[in-house]
Amino acid sequence: MTIRRILETLAQHDYRLTWQRWAVAAGVVLNQDRLLTAEELYSQLKKDYPDIGLATVYRTLDLLVELGLVDRVQVGDGPTKYGLRNTNVEVRQQLVCECCGEVAPLDAKELEPLCKHLSHLSGYQISEIEIKVTGICPRCKAAASHDGGSGPRPGPSLAPGSEPPARKAAGESGER
Ligand SMILES: [Zn+2]
Repeated sequence: MTIRRILETLAQHDYRLTWQRWAVAAGVVLNQDRLLTAEELYSQLKKDYPDIGLATVYRTLDLLVELGLVDRVQVGDGPTKYGLRNTNVEVRQQLVCECCGEVAPLDAKELEPLCKHLSHLSGYQISEIEIKVTGICPRCKAAASHDGGSGPRPGPSLAPGSEPPARKAAGESGER
């Protein structure tokens, strides 16, 4: 992600390029390998742009988050931090059914901020992350509950009535 990309995206969405937006964008790019709070960015920017206000920094960061250029990360009760979205990290996410062996792609955008956090924690410039989630696919789960518990079946057995309500799998395309 470059400053040019940020400026282009702002223009595409008809946001005027104010000096404040320029300053915040440049500040985020300069700090691209780390996460920082709005206050930290503000105190950095204040040196070069004495007129900038904290509220403007917050507003601009929120705008950049909305445009998908910046990630907002909060872990536990920690402070909210911001960091440039790293589009160079390849995140491979897979769902694997331990029952039938089906492998399905998992598209969880929420993981992107987590990558940022991992990069921050480890000091690594992360280039690839592989995530494998193992469980029982919706089909196997349905089959298991239909067969009424007769005979052995793989997977954890749930006492009748204790099954959580069927959840509509996101991204489940209407292929039935
Ligand atoms: Zn399955």
